[in-house]
Amino acid sequence: MYFLNEILPKILIVLASALAMEWVAWASHKYIMHGFGWAWHRDHHEPHDNKLEKNDLFGIFGAALSIALFALGNPAVLGDAAWPPAFWMAVGVMLYGLIYTFIHDGIVHQRFFRYVPRGGYAKRLVQAHRLHHATIGKEGGVSFGFVFPRNPAKLKAELAKQRDSGKARLRSNA
Ligand SMILES: [Zn+2]
Ligand SMILES: [Zn+2]
Repeated sequence: MYFLNEILPKILIVLASALAMEWVAWASHKYIMHGFGWAWHRDHHEPHDNKLEKNDLFGIFGAALSIALFALGNPAVLGDAAWPPAFWMAVGVMLYGLIYTFIHDGIVHQRFFRYVPRGGYAKRLVQAHRLHHATIGKEGGVSFGFVFPRNPAKLKAELAKQRDSGKARLRSNA
C-alpha cells in the first residue's frame, strides 16, 4: 500500500506540525509578544498608516524555523546526517505561516485585499481576532490563538470581566 506507507505518514507530519505551530503561535503571542516582546508587538495593537509594522519581524522567526527544518531534512545540506521527516515538518511550519499570513494579515487586517466573510467559521475567526484587538496595552486580552476561535459572545463576556476587575482596559468602540 504505497499510499498508507509512503504518503499518509507525510501528510500526518505536515498536519501535526501545522497544528503544533498554532500552539507555538498561541504561547508566544500570550507570553512573549504580550510580555517582554511587547515593544515589537505594540504597533500591531495601535492605529497607524504605515505599510509595515515592527510586529512583522516576528514572522521572521517562523520563516527561520521552517528554513532550519528544510536544511535538517535535506541530504544536499547535511549528507547522511539529514533527517528526512524534518522536510515534512518544514512544510507544515510553512503551511501554517502561509495560512496565518493569508487569514490574519489578509482577511482580518485587510492588508492585501478586502473580503469580509458573512458567516460560518471565517466570520467567527475574524470576530475572535478583532476581539483580541479590543484591549489597550499588553495587559489582559482574549484570543491569543488563531485558527480555533471561541464563541465571540463568550469572548465579549470575558473581556467585560477583565475590564470590571481592572485586568484590562478596553477600547471605547469594543
Ligand atoms: Zn496581541
Ligand atoms: Zn491582529
